[in-house]
Amino acid sequence: MSIFTKIITGEIPSYKVAENDDFIAFLDINPNAKGHTLVVPKKEENKIFEMSREEYSNLMDFSYTVAKALEKAVPCNRIGMSVIGLEVPHVHVHLIPINKMADIQYIQKVKLSNDEFVALAKSIADKIE
Ligand code: 5GP
Repeated sequence: MSIFTKIITGEIPSYKVAENDDFIAFLDINPNAKGHTLVVPKKEENKIFEMSREEYSNLMDFSYTVAKALEKAVPCNRIGMSVIGLEVPHVHVHLIPINKMADIQYIQKVKLSNDEFVALAKSIADKIE
């Protein structure tokens, strides 16, 4: 069982931003930039291009909804998106508010307090349409 499945089942906590029957979005615990969010299918699959086209399209559609809210909640130049999965082999889309290339390169990290994570997750969740 992946660490993200444990988050989905509530076994371990997360700063949740959005959820529906098939997907969940929560803040990355070690963010590149403030607002770095992960969008995760509840069905545990390893690689994004092992998903069916329909699951992939639905993941992108849910990511669009989350990115729109993120862009409203966190001042930034734009929302960057990447899919890696080398650390956690459970499909996830990284949505990252970026101002410069380093913000999406996984070379710098931002430290946030618990209170800051809670407030940030709520500010994004409040903007979900
Ligand atoms: P990747 O698998 O795409 O290389 O990276 C996995 C991402 O998941 C990393 O950005 C890492 O900070 C994040 N991550 C790993 N474990 C946890 C966790 O327990 N909770 C949360 N919210 N994020 C995690």
